[in-house]
Amino acid sequence: MKTEIRFYNTLLHDVEPFATQEADQVTMYSCGPTVYDFAHIGNFRTFLFADLLRRFLEAAGWEVEQVMNITDVGHMTEDDLADGGGEDKMEVSARRLREAKKAGRPDAAAVDDPDDPYQVARYYTDAFLTDARALGLAVADEYPAHMPFASQYVPAMQDIVRRLIDNGHAYVASDGVVYYSVESFPDYGRLSGNTLDHLRSGSGGRVTEADQNSKRHPADFLLWKPDANHIMKWDSPWGEGYPGWHLECSAMAMALLQKDVIDIHTGGEDNIFPHHECEIAQSRGVTGAPYFARFWMHARFLQVEGEKMSKSMGNFHTARDVFAGKVTGTPVHPAVLRLELIKSHYRSHMNFTAKGLRDSAQTVRRWTEFGRRLEQEANGNSQPPDDHPVVQRFMAALADDLNISGALAEVLPWMANCREKASTALGVFRFVDDVLYLAALQEKGAGTRQTEEGSDEVAGLCRQLDEARTARDYTRADALRQQLIDAGYEVRTTPAGTTAHPRLA
Ligand SMILES: [Zn+2]
Repeated sequence: MKTEIRFYNTLLHDVEPFATQEADQVTMYSCGPTVYDFAHIGNFRTFLFADLLRRFLEAAGWEVEQVMNITDVGHMTEDDLADGGGEDKMEVSARRLREAKKAGRPDAAAVDDPDDPYQVARYYTDAFLTDARALGLAVADEYPAHMPFASQYVPAMQDIVRRLIDNGHAYVASDGVVYYSVESFPDYGRLSGNTLDHLRSGSGGRVTEADQNSKRHPADFLLWKPDANHIMKWDSPWGEGYPGWHLECSAMAMALLQKDVIDIHTGGEDNIFPHHECEIAQSRGVTGAPYFARFWMHARFLQVEGEKMSKSMGNFHTARDVFAGKVTGTPVHPAVLRLELIKSHYRSHMNFTAKGLRDSAQTVRRWTEFGRRLEQEANGNSQPPDDHPVVQRFMAALADDLNISGALAEVLPWMANCREKASTALGVFRFVDDVLYLAALQEKGAGTRQTEEGSDEVAGLCRQLDEARTARDYTRADALRQQLIDAGYEVRTTPAGTTAHPRLA
């Protein structure tokens, strides 16, 4: 099903028809997590926006090849400094874990040696993958092939630095640091709207005295920093040291997607400058192509109960905090957080609230139960849904710059009033759920649980419950029902028998 698709392209500062270079294939690069801490709900809002985009394009008939990097090196604490000043985040994290270990806090127990940055990265990567899979990020199931570590691509980054020096886009400064020369690239600032004059005056990035001495232009950014004392360092023609943060995405996009120009690049709005501006300068500096990515798409910030989320405000939530019920007082199923984080338009500042979560929980519960009922009634037989008006309107809404509210407004009322033949409705349900990935996430969770605990055991309890009912032994039936409920299952008894599914939030 090919729909006329239009996306807002940050590069054009406007909406434009979506087109790819190859007929049925989309290459997509998504800036991924920095593994020095647990990912928070704002990070996951951005990642889930990319996931919704991907699943929508797949439903529309494209084959999507998505790469998402894992940043385990070179990321500085002061993100707004294009040249990478400040302390490396991995160093900060190692220090925090050292202190946690000394204090005997359990979160540090999994890391033997906090001074080994690879152990720290491994620890937070595992945590990320667990959360990301729970939330249904398709790319997390493609780890490690499509989720590479920056630290494994340092030779590819060095290759880019070498080529940029050779063709005059980069230079070695008097203090040995390799910088990208922004004046060598006339399009620098096109994505973010920061002109070089604006940057020279210092409002787009602070300029230190040391920079003034060695840089040609204050906005020139770091490509390689010789530093023999750095926590992660590599040999290079410019001395033992580490790469600039922006390099990794240029290197991994080129290495894994194998294209000079990729179709879509996603990230959070905080990535636009300096990170994406610098990625473009580096990549095009090497390829000479008119674009690095044809479409640049950015998700806006998330607020919590109308306030900026920050550790000092005490409203800073990781995904695992939400799952564990630290925000609402009761555990939240990942499918509920998924819906909550995708249900407002990616270019609006979403407001994360406890009430919103409760609404999402109700929607996910109704949607999943609707699907289970249809599966049962239709006996798993579904009609192809492509011509169904609900599917067409759902896709048309998403084709309009991923208008998720419009798409949900087609589907949810249809669900509430559905009188269609079960097999017809099931076709629509499955199609829509492939994109939203809500019921599927529940069943996936159920699958995991059943393999861990034995689906036979749950099915066995249901069978015993039915036998007890037939024998009118209601005390035993109630005890078995309670046993399933205590194990986290929702138990339903119909004339056809008893079924149990993992309980929602
Ligand atoms: Zn990036």
